[in-house]
Amino acid sequence: MADIVVLGAGVAGLGLAAFAARRGHRVTLVERDGPPPGGGADTEVADWERRGVPHARQGHALLGLGISVLRQECPGVLDELTGRGAVAVALETGGDDLGLLSRRLVFEAALRRRALADPGVTLLRDRVTGLLAAGAPHECPHVHGVRLAEGGDLSADVVLDATGRRSAVAAWLTALGGAPPRETVQSCGFSYIAQEFALDPGGRFPSLRAPVVHELDFATVLAFPGDNGRFHLSTTVSSQDPLRTRLLDRPVYLRFLASVDGARDWLDRATPVREPMPMAGLENRRRCLVADGAPLVTGYALVGDACVQTNPTFGRGVSLALAHARTVADRLDRLDQEPHRWAVETHEATKGCLGLWFEQQVATDAARLAELAGRGHDDSLAARVLTALAVLREEDEQVRVAAERVYHMLLTPAELMKDRKVARRVLAFLREHPDLRREHVGPNRRDFERLVTG
Ligand SMILES: Cc1cc2nc3c(=O)[nH]c(=O)nc-3n(C[C@H](O)[C@H](O)[C@H](O)COP(=O)(O)OP(=O)(O)OC[C@H]3O[C@@H](n4cnc5c(N)ncnc54)[C@H](O)[C@@H]3O)c2cc1C
Repeated sequence: MADIVVLGAGVAGLGLAAFAARRGHRVTLVERDGPPPGGGADTEVADWERRGVPHARQGHALLGLGISVLRQECPGVLDELTGRGAVAVALETGGDDLGLLSRRLVFEAALRRRALADPGVTLLRDRVTGLLAAGAPHECPHVHGVRLAEGGDLSADVVLDATGRRSAVAAWLTALGGAPPRETVQSCGFSYIAQEFALDPGGRFPSLRAPVVHELDFATVLAFPGDNGRFHLSTTVSSQDPLRTRLLDRPVYLRFLASVDGARDWLDRATPVREPMPMAGLENRRRCLVADGAPLVTGYALVGDACVQTNPTFGRGVSLALAHARTVADRLDRLDQEPHRWAVETHEATKGCLGLWFEQQVATDAARLAELAGRGHDDSLAARVLTALAVLREEDEQVRVAAERVYHMLLTPAELMKDRKVARRVLAFLREHPDLRREHVGPNRRDFERLVTG
C-alpha cells in the first residue's frame, strides 16, 4: 500500500482517488475549492463555488469512453446520477455502451461523493503552493511531498498533479532548480459562449446526441442536452472576431441562436437560465515530464488536463481524464520500481492512453485553423473521412456503428480504417465525391453582422 497525494479534486483527481483507493492505496486529495452545497442538481450548478474550474458551468458532453471507465471502476456513480436526473443514453455502437447527459457540476458532485465515501481517501481543503524534493539543483529532482498554503508540508510516496489546464508544474519544477515540462501547444483560435436553458414542462430534447453540432461558415453552434431537462447552447467564434463580445448580451445571443437552423428546435419551449458565459484561452496542450528518454522529475506525474487538454468542442476532456486516471492508477502497483524507470514507464503508458487522441486533435485543428484563416478548404484525409462518415452513417448501419465508436473514443480512427468493409465503403464514397465539403447552415456572415449590431 502506498501513500498517494493527489493535487486537485476535479474529474481527474476524483477519479484517480477513487481508482487508487480501490486498488488498496491510501490517498490524500488536496483541493482549493470548497464542497458542493447540499440540495438537488440545480442547487449544485447554481451555488457551488468553483473558482478552480472556470469552465465548470459550460455545457459538457460525457462520451462513451469515460462512462465505460466509470462503469468498470465505480458503477454506483451512474446509478446515483440517474437517480438525480441525469440520463443514460444507449449508444449505437452495437454493444451495451452508454453516454450520459448531465451538467458537469452534477456529474462532478456525484463522483466526489463516491470518492470520499472510500475510507482510503482523505480530503484536505487547501491550496498547493510548491513541491518538496530531494536532489541537488539542476539534477532531476525526486518529489517526496508538497507544500500547502495553510496546512504546512505533506509527504507522499508519489505526488499526482491533477490541478487542471492551469497547472503550475512549470513554476514548481523551476523553483526546485529542475527543468520545466516539454510542452506542445496549439491555440484553438476560438472563444466559447454558452447559455443554459430549462425545458418548459412537458418539453423534450430534439436530440439525445451530445453534442449536436451546427456548423456555420464563421462559427459553430453546439447543443448539449443535460440532466433534469437542462441544456446548453454554446457557440464558438474566432478569438479575433470583433463582434464576439456582443453575444454576451443575452437578448443578442438569443436573437442569434434563433437565426440558426437547427438551434431553433432547442429554443422552442425552453427558458434561458442565468446569463451567457464566456470562455477564452482554449488550447490543445500536452506537457511531458520525460525528455530524450530521461525523466525531468521523479516521484511525480501529471494526470488529466494538467497533462493533456484538447479542443473542448470534441467533448473529450472528461473521458480522457478518467481513462488517464485509470492508466496512472494501474501504475501505482509498480511504485517498487526504480523511480527513473517508474517515471519513464508511466510516461509511455500515458502516451498509449492520450497521445494518439492529442495528435489527431492537433492535426484536425491545424487544418481547420488554416481554413478559417482563408488558406483554403480543409482537404486533409482526416477531415474528408470525418465528413464521409457523417454522410454515410445516415444510410449505412455498419458505418454508423463504427463512426459512433470512434466519436466516443471506443475505437481509434486507425482501428476504424482496419475494418475492411467500412474502409472500402468510405474510400469508395470519397472517390465518388472528390469535392466533398461540410455543409454550412445559416445565417451567413452578413446576416450575423446585421443581427448582432442591429
Ligand atoms: C469551455 C470548455 C468546455 C468543455 N467541454 C467539455 C465537454 O463537453 N466534454 C468533456 O469531456 N470535456 C469538456 N471540457 C474539458 C473538461 O472540462 C476537462 O477536460 C476536465 O475538466 C479535466 O479535468 P481535470 O480534473 O483534469 O481538471 P479540472 O477539472 O480543471 O480540475 C482541476 C482541479 O484542481 C484544483 N486546483 C487547481 N490548482 C490547485 C492548487 N494549487 N491547489 C489545490 N487545488 C488546485 C481546481 O480547483 C480543480 O478542482 C471542456 C473544457 C472547456 C474549457
